[in-house]
Amino acid sequence: MIFRPEQVEQKGVIFNIQRYSVHDGPGIRTTVFMKGCPLRCSWCHNPEGLESRPEVVIYDGCIHCGRCELICPKCGMPLSAETNELKGIICCHCGACVPPCPTGSRRVIGREMTESDILQEIDKDRIFYEDSGGGVTFSGGEPLSQAEFVKAVLSRCRQEGIHTAVDTSGYGRQEDLLSLAEVTDLFLFDLKLMDDEKHKQYTGVSNRPILDNLSALAKVYRNIWLRVPIIPGITDDAENLDMISERVSELPSVQQVCLLPYHKTAAAKFKRMGLPYPLENIQQPNPETMESLRMQFVAKGLPVTIGG
Ligand code: SF4
Ligand code: SF4
Ligand code: SF4
Repeated sequence: MIFRPEQVEQKGVIFNIQRYSVHDGPGIRTTVFMKGCPLRCSWCHNPEGLESRPEVVIYDGCIHCGRCELICPKCGMPLSAETNELKGIICCHCGACVPPCPTGSRRVIGREMTESDILQEIDKDRIFYEDSGGGVTFSGGEPLSQAEFVKAVLSRCRQEGIHTAVDTSGYGRQEDLLSLAEVTDLFLFDLKLMDDEKHKQYTGVSNRPILDNLSALAKVYRNIWLRVPIIPGITDDAENLDMISERVSELPSVQQVCLLPYHKTAAAKFKRMGLPYPLENIQQPNPETMESLRMQFVAKGLPVTIGG
């Protein structure tokens, strides 16, 4: 793989690079998580990807040594001894309190990386792509929020013959989406709620730009997997799923519907971010429920999987 000098490259803000991923497209993949998302889904599984800048987060293990309180130039008193959370301060995420922490409880989530930084990580896993039919997936956060950077990296992956995928909420500038389509082999496109008022209530934004973008993409692009998060009591009612399946039947570009069962693993992440978890009382759907929802799509002749 060709690595260019840093000065001619773009930079993006990334909060994780997940190797050996099997949930973000075909085969074994490297998933690059971009920081920054315009949505605020109540069930968000990656709250560390919401803000576009790097953030200071507090993990378990604080021994209350007080070093961070001494160092913080902003607040002087950033910790709550009881909850180990930032308390009532406007933290500017300068990161000054991170190095003195002896337990690693304070960490910075997110960092700026160049195109070559990312490509070097991707290059480590090439052998797995070749054997499994995998590749690289850009996820987030929302990749459309850093579309130019994502396109630059995906173009270079394409030149190297690496399969490329983008996992998107579909919320962003249509020209960015169509531009990314030029270098993307597969779109994993989320469709959550067809009712616009409910969409606004649970994600913070209207679904109209998302539906418009999906239609525009489907006109010029052939390989879309539509991902539907199954959130009990929010997205799993018959009316919503019927409307989604109707929309899918109108779009031959949708090769597969993926039903993604809600899971509670994000609750701990919300706590670390000092954010309230909005779905505390919602239970994960059991396998029988997921299978019955899957059969609703099968009955309409649509290709559907659980997960993926
Ligand atoms: S679109 Fe994805 S990253 Fe953005 S808030 Fe929703 S679940 Fe989280
Ligand atoms: S990141 Fe900066 S402002 Fe925030 S708690 Fe640490 S030292 Fe204070
Ligand atoms: S420096 Fe680390 S261990 Fe010490 S009080 Fe701060 S968070 Fe806790």
